[in-house]
Amino acid sequence: MEHFKTIIEPFRVKSVEAIKFTRREEREQALREAGYNVFRLHAEDVLVDLLTDSGTGAMSAAQWGALMQGDESYAGSRSYYRFRDVVKELTGFKHVIPTHQGRAAERILFHSILEPGMVVPNNNHFDTTRANVEVERCEARDLVIPEGRVPALEHPFKGNIDLTALEETLQKDGERVPLVMVTVTNNTGGGQPVSLENLRGVRRLCDRYNKPFFLDACRFAENAYFIKRREAGQGHRTPKQIAQEMFSLADGCTMSAKKDGLANIGGFLAMNDDGWTESCRNLLILTEGFPTYGGLAGYDLEAIARGLEEVVEEPYLRYRIRSIEYLAEKLVAAGVPILRPAGGHAVYLDARALLPQVPPLQYPGIAVVNALYLEGGVRGVEIGTVMFGAHPDGTESAGPMDLVRLAIPRRVYTQSHVDFVAEVVIHVAERRQELRGYRIVEAPKFLRHFTARFQPVSA
Ligand SMILES: *Cc1c(COP(=O)(O)O)cnc(C)c1O
Repeated sequence: MEHFKTIIEPFRVKSVEAIKFTRREEREQALREAGYNVFRLHAEDVLVDLLTDSGTGAMSAAQWGALMQGDESYAGSRSYYRFRDVVKELTGFKHVIPTHQGRAAERILFHSILEPGMVVPNNNHFDTTRANVEVERCEARDLVIPEGRVPALEHPFKGNIDLTALEETLQKDGERVPLVMVTVTNNTGGGQPVSLENLRGVRRLCDRYNKPFFLDACRFAENAYFIKRREAGQGHRTPKQIAQEMFSLADGCTMSAKKDGLANIGGFLAMNDDGWTESCRNLLILTEGFPTYGGLAGYDLEAIARGLEEVVEEPYLRYRIRSIEYLAEKLVAAGVPILRPAGGHAVYLDARALLPQVPPLQYPGIAVVNALYLEGGVRGVEIGTVMFGAHPDGTESAGPMDLVRLAIPRRVYTQSHVDFVAEVVIHVAERRQELRGYRIVEAPKFLRHFTARFQPVSA
């Protein structure tokens, strides 16, 4: 089998779900009713849903089987101990706190440790991470390497944090920095990996300045596989061994099990510090649930435990990373500007480069997202000025980039779905001149991209 070059889905399909075909007029109406915000669409009206890879994966037969093993005891459930042991074996962290998803872990950590005016450095904060820092009246400071800000530039570890800039922050604002975070892979920066060498550099700085180091570990397995493929001297190790080393360099992590937990819901907060753990557990009891379930059912804990074992299997990761590369290669060959190289969970279209006629404050990303839905029933998401351009003081400016993320759910779509998506994107790119911008007619203060309503700007 090693002689053949076609990489196949490392599973066979046991259960299927029909998807609904719609007519263009129906999609036009659906989009209008949704205020031109695809978050507000009925998912049923979407043909291929690439809005997110979060919680949208297919569980394995083993995970479905594990659901029936769920122990729904309120306190001390057997499923909690199985979950805890899997997380401990993988991460090595002393304390494991289940949460209903990643942002709950973020909120509990940040609400427990942040004081107004503090600074949290990260390569790039994810949207919920940033919001949970800013809601505590603190600064979320993005310090990704300069290469990570240039969409067309190829670099093997574009998610790396700029160690010089991090040291500057620690020197100048050190007393206001409660911890250093690094997001693996860097979702906001294009699903780009962080190297082991970079993580070791962060560890050294954290030791020198006496700061705890936390991973935003949502896609730790994809990151580990990139390290295996791209970092010198790592090719012979298993993804799991690499992941274990990544975690060993940190003092704790926040995790959304909806990503590399291969589950539909769940997350956790894990760390070594006893004092922080106590404060976090107290808040957990107030808002999430008892420490042995943290807002999850016993069966969710079982599904996550099994998912964390499956996600580091090499055939899965090889297929996973390759299927994203495959879509990226088709788009590059057709001349569509994308963030390069392909990320671990998604392809990011460079909407700013695709639509030079649409200024950032007319949201080129939204224009592309809406066109993909209208033309092909494909749903992506804007990662740009709508998501990151609003400031806590009510002002607005262009986001660092205007991207459209096409996130691939895990183990859900086949190669022909991906071929179809490529065809739709290329079709939209060919009509780029016809696309117009949007303006916001209604938006909340935090995380406005989820619920804002838009109007097309007239030509
Ligand atoms: C999804 C995600 C989160 C938040 O997790 P949820 O489970 O959606 O709350 C945090 N950080 C990153 C990098 C993510 O991708």
